[in-house]
Amino acid sequence: MSYPHLLAPLDLGFTRLANRVLMGSMHTGLEDGRRHFTALAAYFAERARGGVGLMVTGGFAPNIAGWTKPFAGTLATTAAARRHREVTQAVHAEGGRIALQILHTGRYGYHPFIVAPSRIKSPITPFTPFELSARGIERQIRAFVRCAQLAREAGYDGAEIMGSEGYLINQFLVTHTNRRTDEWGGSYENRMRFAIEVVRRTRAAVGPDFILIYRLSMLDLIPDGSSWPEAVQLAKAVTAAGATIINTGIGWHEARVPTIATSVPRAAFAWVTQKMRRELRAAGLTIPLVTSNRINTPEVAEQVLADGCADLVSLARPLLADAEFVNKARAGRAQDINTCIACNQACLDHAFKNELATCLVNPRAARETQIVIRATPQRRRYAVVGAGPAGLAAATTLAERGHAVTLYEASPQIGGQFNMAKRIPGKEEFHETLRYFGRRIEATGVELKLGTRVSAEQLIEVRPDAVIVATGVRPRDPKIPGQDAPQVLSYVDVLLHGKPVGERVLIVGAGGIGFDVAEFLATPAGHSPTLSLPEWLAEWGVADPAQVRGGVVRPQPAAAARRVTLLQRKSGKLGRNLGKTTGWIHRAALAMKEVEMVGGVNYERITPQGLWVTYGEARRDGQLIECDTIVLCAGQEPLRELHAPLQAAGLAVHLIGGAHEAAELDAKRAIDQGVRLAATL
Ligand code: FAD
Ligand code: NAP
Ligand code: SF4
Repeated sequence: MSYPHLLAPLDLGFTRLANRVLMGSMHTGLEDGRRHFTALAAYFAERARGGVGLMVTGGFAPNIAGWTKPFAGTLATTAAARRHREVTQAVHAEGGRIALQILHTGRYGYHPFIVAPSRIKSPITPFTPFELSARGIERQIRAFVRCAQLAREAGYDGAEIMGSEGYLINQFLVTHTNRRTDEWGGSYENRMRFAIEVVRRTRAAVGPDFILIYRLSMLDLIPDGSSWPEAVQLAKAVTAAGATIINTGIGWHEARVPTIATSVPRAAFAWVTQKMRRELRAAGLTIPLVTSNRINTPEVAEQVLADGCADLVSLARPLLADAEFVNKARAGRAQDINTCIACNQACLDHAFKNELATCLVNPRAARETQIVIRATPQRRRYAVVGAGPAGLAAATTLAERGHAVTLYEASPQIGGQFNMAKRIPGKEEFHETLRYFGRRIEATGVELKLGTRVSAEQLIEVRPDAVIVATGVRPRDPKIPGQDAPQVLSYVDVLLHGKPVGERVLIVGAGGIGFDVAEFLATPAGHSPTLSLPEWLAEWGVADPAQVRGGVVRPQPAAAARRVTLLQRKSGKLGRNLGKTTGWIHRAALAMKEVEMVGGVNYERITPQGLWVTYGEARRDGQLIECDTIVLCAGQEPLRELHAPLQAAGLAVHLIGGAHEAAELDAKRAIDQGVRLAATL
């Protein structure tokens, strides 16, 4: 398939972009330290080589007040601009284009020097902002302008002014955060003055031949956010003030609607950009618009553009997952793209935990200088046992390097536990990882032996140069008296073997798998595997912003399929260890399905009527919780019987993934371990 809309060049008058892919801004953490600039240059150069039309850096603050956190990446001096030259030169050497994002966090900053239009604390940081004086406002505008000038000095092709997601510019725009009574508050004319002054003065300072992207919040998803006429007025005004391109922002960080998580349907918000594009075209404005959020395949990107939703698509995480996305699409190799599954586990979760971002499906992302896949000088024979994420990553990386690899898998399909994960409503994207690895096995020439539970004796007979044991885990036995009863199932019985489950269900264990099983069992059959876009929007209370200010209404979840109760022994909130940026979504989704959550429980015994429990250390208030089915999700233990006999036979053996360590295992660790080991063998 060719992608005529996606791959069409875009003429901006003073310059031409090679195609319609904009790499959206992502904070990797490499922006925050001088010592990371070489790594940052390698990261962007790889994506420029991959064919992206225009890239936007992670946010750089124009001054200290605008920091995301103490000592965050800042571009405010000529010395700093000089350091950026390493990045811009590396990108230009690959024929790429790059713009610097100017991000002033306002009241969202995680430090005590934050400023905002009004002294109103945000729910996502512990700090209360200082209210800006009129002179303070002038200082912030000048900082934006200076930052854009320095970006130009540093060799950037443009700058993106971050005006969405609830950051400073957005805070000026809405009464939720702007209660001023001077010329910067009150009427909408006044509230948008800050945004317009930033764009107008920046354009005047950088000249006409510098790309200025304005990221405009088209749907705030907060109750007193912008109205649609206000958003349209702003788009027209930033165009008149000198913006070259308008990018779409969806949702403030404090919004209670997921906007990029895996359960969000693909291209779920392209209609918002389309609505704006129609307004601007009707007014005779031809400024290119970028649409964003959950566009992760060339097919979806092409469709969005063919439907007239936008002139460009913003791909951010998909380019972490695969730097070659555009080149592969151009070469008709879309099936070879390593697709972003929107898990947030290694990108956004890392950024919010102050760790360097990377990608669950591509551990080389933002580690390009650390993990280097080199052709082997000496071809060896490797046996990899287990085709779960760890084994798949190891086998295909070894084969890519030129080794002879045999991959043994006991079940009739590759994927290990991903074959259960992909069945969870909202986790359908996990199919893509299995499709990708399937293609990689073919392309790299791994010899795959499905339906082969290989034994130590067989491996000893084959005598490869080394064995990589990636046999994963077995479910932990919680040893509850009476658990052998027929109404007691494991998550494997439910998710893999499709065993029947009654109307009233208790789930023992509230880790990632307990939560997923609750979602699976509480979701009505018709709502799985995928909610349609209108159903999803209704479920989360997203409305047309032309009808409702901010675009949020009361959520209308479908009735639950079953009565589900999730139990854990620890007291306190359930799901505490779920993803930093997605845990709240899982909790909210289960709350909408009226899943009951109970902590501090002791499991005493199982009888035909249900589960007898007591509470707390004192084992008080003994009680029978009646149910039809009990599903055990009590964690996992490593499965590594092969290890000792292989070692005893003198074979070199490596343990990876769940077979190495089951505690706190996830696919991020499994794939990372597989790739890193294979890169060094
Ligand atoms: P496994 O995936 O367990 O694979 C091991 C493989 O080895 C299996 O296919 C098995 O058949 C095979 N095998 C075992 N013994 C032999 C033998 N002797 N010969 C041949 N083959 C053998 N992780 C995340 O990061 N994010 C998520 O959102 C997520 N959701 C999940 C949802 C569910 C419902 C489940 C069950 C898991 C989820 N996980 C998630 C966890 C993730 O799937 C695991 O961390 C990951 O699969 C571990 O990879 P692995 O390769 O170590 O082991
Ligand atoms: P887990 O997260 O370790 O949770 C195990 C649960 O079982 C806990 O609630 C624990 O709570 C309980 N438990 C532990 N020992 C028990 C025992 N002896 N008897 C009864 N209950 C016991 O493990 P998991 O849910 O099996 O998930 C496995 C891995 O897959 C996790 O590490 C997770 O990261 C990954 N995963 C991730 C996601 C995701 O969305 N990121 C989704 C699914 C799975 P108490 O000890 O308090 O009872
Ligand atoms: Fe996408 Fe997950 Fe990788 Fe982030 S970590 S880029 S969400 S696959």
